[in-house]
Amino acid sequence: MALIVQKFGGSSVADAQRVMNVARIVTETYKQGNDVVVVVSAQGDTTDDLIEKAKEINPNAKTREMDQLLAAGEQISISLLAMAIEGLGFPVISLLGWQAGFNTNSVYGSARIKNIRTNRLQAELAKHNIVVVAGFQGINRYDDLTTLGRGGSDTSAVAIAAALHADKCQIFTDVEGVYTADPRKVEGAQKLDEITYDEMLELATLGAQVLNNRSVEMAKKYSVELEVLSSLNPVPGTIVKEKIKMEKMLIRGVTKDTDVALISVVGVDDNPGVAFKIFSKLAHKNINVDIILQSVGRTGTKDVTFTVSKDNGPIAVEAIRELPQLEDKEIKCKTDVAKVSIVGAGMESHPGTASKMFEALYEQNINIQMISTSEIKISVIIDEAEANRAVNAVHNAFLPND
Ligand code: ASP
Ligand code: MG
Repeated sequence: MALIVQKFGGSSVADAQRVMNVARIVTETYKQGNDVVVVVSAQGDTTDDLIEKAKEINPNAKTREMDQLLAAGEQISISLLAMAIEGLGFPVISLLGWQAGFNTNSVYGSARIKNIRTNRLQAELAKHNIVVVAGFQGINRYDDLTTLGRGGSDTSAVAIAAALHADKCQIFTDVEGVYTADPRKVEGAQKLDEITYDEMLELATLGAQVLNNRSVEMAKKYSVELEVLSSLNPVPGTIVKEKIKMEKMLIRGVTKDTDVALISVVGVDDNPGVAFKIFSKLAHKNINVDIILQSVGRTGTKDVTFTVSKDNGPIAVEAIRELPQLEDKEIKCKTDVAKVSIVGAGMESHPGTASKMFEALYEQNINIQMISTSEIKISVIIDEAEANRAVNAVHNAFLPND
């Protein structure tokens, strides 16, 4: 007998039929003699719809009230799923985040889990109940509801698996696993049998939608082995773990992220401290900067270029304008750009990887505006209109479609 945590995303519980389908998967696992904890997200687009509702009433609502609202989405899905499981004749109880012991900090809208008091969970499992837990939510030290940030139910599931030392954490979704590229957009995208935490973390951060990156971080930290699999099609999924068997695969995936704004500060003085001033200002405003490029100084000036998320583009421009030394400088903000990346632990030991990627883009006559690399990834910034073509060309260069 094992303890299994199963997580189902919003699309897997979108309507009554899908909820029944999940109830069948869960009870099947229970019937095999396992203890089962199920974590669910809000149904379908519920969270987006709730956000829209709030905007109609007050676009600047306090984050505390937003969390109070958004937590309701998961409350609906846990109770409905519990009713479905009960209808199939199995013992079940649904728990909200706070009832399941999720203690978080007080950063409403993107709270971090501090710990999980597992007594209630354990007591319910001891009674042989299937335990259905609301993902994405917890409670802070003021007894107020908090949410973990969009896509946070993955993190809830991994946290429970870690806290209960579960034997398995299965993340059910509407695709069959982790693919080498978005299978809807790239012909020949392949499902991976296995992937390392580090590779998955890069893919998740670079725009692959399948797992939330915080959940992967946590899985790595607590060595929780994950399986990503389909709730609609019962075939083996993708295992995410520390070490995987060596395969002759140079890269594991190609991603596209269109949530990018490219900002250039043109003709700043070529003196010490300019980069410091710009980026400390941005840090102060809580703006995450991704790729940074500084041109070589010529005739006493240089350009500083960097990327942020699209939302943060105008905020970043305004923040820089507030710097007295830079008020009269030209600041450009381009939002029609995308980041295309390749990820793979194999590239660490293969010197030709970058040139192969650049060649594939060159053959498509796609201009690279910025490049950034780490041990296991290479990213380029290009025109957004060329992004799909770029992903296909790069995928085909590394993982030929035959
Ligand atoms: N329902 C939340 C969201 O849509 C959490 C989740 O889906 O994981 O972001
Ligand atoms: Mg959702």
